[in-house]
Amino acid sequence: MINAQTVLESTFGYPSFRAPQKDIIDTLVAGGDALVLMPTGGGKSLCYQIPALVRDGCGIVVSPLIALMQDQVDALRQLGVKASYLNSTLSLDEAHNIEQALLAGQLDLLYVAPERLKQERMLNLIKRSSIALFAIDEAHCVSQWGHDFRADYLQLGILHEQFPEIPRIALTATADARTRKEIVNRLDLGGARQFVSGFDRPNIAYTIGLKHNPKQQLQQFLTEQHAHDAGIIYCLSRKKTEDIAFWLQGQGFNALPYHAGLDAKIRANHQARFLREESVIIVATVAFGMGIDKPDVRFVAHLDLPKTVESYYQETGRAGRDGLPANAWMIYGLQDVIKLRQMMESSEGSEEHKRAEQHRLNAMLGLCEITTCRRQALLDYFDDELDQPCGNCDTCLKPVPTWDGTQAARMALSACYRTEQRFGVNYLVDVLRGADIDKIKHNNHHQLSTYGVGSELDNNQWRSVFRQLVARGYLSVDLERFGALRLEEKCRPLLRGEEHIELRKDVKQQDAKRTTKSQLPVDIDVALWETLRNCRRELADEQGVPPYVIFHDSTLQEMCVTMPQSLPEFSQLSGVGARKLDKYGAVFLSAINKHLAA
Ligand code: ADP
Ligand code: ZN
Repeated sequence: MINAQTVLESTFGYPSFRAPQKDIIDTLVAGGDALVLMPTGGGKSLCYQIPALVRDGCGIVVSPLIALMQDQVDALRQLGVKASYLNSTLSLDEAHNIEQALLAGQLDLLYVAPERLKQERMLNLIKRSSIALFAIDEAHCVSQWGHDFRADYLQLGILHEQFPEIPRIALTATADARTRKEIVNRLDLGGARQFVSGFDRPNIAYTIGLKHNPKQQLQQFLTEQHAHDAGIIYCLSRKKTEDIAFWLQGQGFNALPYHAGLDAKIRANHQARFLREESVIIVATVAFGMGIDKPDVRFVAHLDLPKTVESYYQETGRAGRDGLPANAWMIYGLQDVIKLRQMMESSEGSEEHKRAEQHRLNAMLGLCEITTCRRQALLDYFDDELDQPCGNCDTCLKPVPTWDGTQAARMALSACYRTEQRFGVNYLVDVLRGADIDKIKHNNHHQLSTYGVGSELDNNQWRSVFRQLVARGYLSVDLERFGALRLEEKCRPLLRGEEHIELRKDVKQQDAKRTTKSQLPVDIDVALWETLRNCRRELADEQGVPPYVIFHDSTLQEMCVTMPQSLPEFSQLSGVGARKLDKYGAVFLSAINKHLAA
């Protein structure tokens, strides 16, 4: 049997395993089951690819995303791995050939959609073939509580029933304990070793700012930090993804919309362009992203607030899989909170379910409003720990000023109470600031003791106070009455003067320039970098594969820094295995030499 370290070096071109990979691989090679929770970009794929190469037989990979199988298989073939897939995009003939290859023991890895795996025909085929292992990718799809539930995943329990002796590995980046439990139960993985990695993504910088002029803020963020980068922008509604995409096109960005309502062909085309071209921006609803393992997504932007911290983490996690610096950038405002609360209230589902959703939204709001390290808060949410503030989030890089908002909060709550909890933010701000408007007079609210007591704060400052009171659960939004604010139990100590409240001081241009202006290390030769990128693009186009399948950015950067002069030197680069050395070594060496001679 060849050993895992040899495969890592010679096939994948990496010198060493990352922390948990070795143990996971050993477990499978020895015939055991494993449940792997690792953040996106952590290196999950190697955990089943290497055991499949080391063990006899073919590794069967269950993956929910047909559209991405082609790219996964292309990437493996580039490494000299005998990989294929079986899904509904193949003709009968093609599928038949692959089945024969499996029977003949000619495959290392076979990707299969879950709905196919449970079919009698497929199960029979597996029975007659030599199988190294089953890998169940995106295993959280089995969870009905999760966001990506797939009914077909429920059937995967039969793998254990029918093939108890074949080792299984289930993998996911979804962190919460409840989902993990569900995976174990439904896939019958009680006997599996669990590998739970820390969830930190240190190369992602988190920024959450206030929304005041979303388009202008977005444009500034993009031009200053990501002028030529690939990224994803999430919006809540389909219409908005289109609006933003077309507007960005007008501003000279290569932006494309993506949502479930688009024609399937257009959707597939936009996804393919995102994967294959460099610097495409996808403006999408949450329908986009699962399983997208494009390594060089340099930013994920949210123009609307996600409903849960889980979704936020999952979505932002799509940035920077290659380990290079990436941005998770979000702007949000009071309207987002109101809109989300409305959507939740009007959604179907039991009271209990709604309460759980509210609870999760509150955690998300808490993350937005905190004044301490965002990463610490995020990790804490997933019961993970970070001893020190991270130094790579907005609150760390630029400490948030706070002010004693006790007095203002009391005024705000009292205005709400005295107007009988029937009005929304705008009206309450008018009352507090003593606005001279008919509606107030008509309601006789100009006679209230709170009328005009708050003239020291301007409109925005009051909105900020209300936003934070809603976000922290002192006020709730009454949906029957178009966003009227209501007092919550939690107000009492504050109103009685027993509690003191620190509020964020909202700084308008919060999105100060950040460190990741360019992903390139400062001292590399930009001309060489461009030359190597062109070289990569040509090779990719010739073969109809995404550029990162040839080499990742990180490998190209290493080339720029070390400028190898010979094949043995070239083979030392991370990401250069035997096959790629053979296929591409000479081309890139000659490009480097030409550059040096010029
Ligand atoms: P995940 O599926 O967990 O999101 P991937 O399997 O796509 O992550 O791996 C993320 C990136 O890390 C890939 O570019 C992969 O080639 C790289 N990688 C994985 N393991 C190693 C390793 N041991 N050494 C160097 N790079 C690695
Ligand atoms: Zn931090």
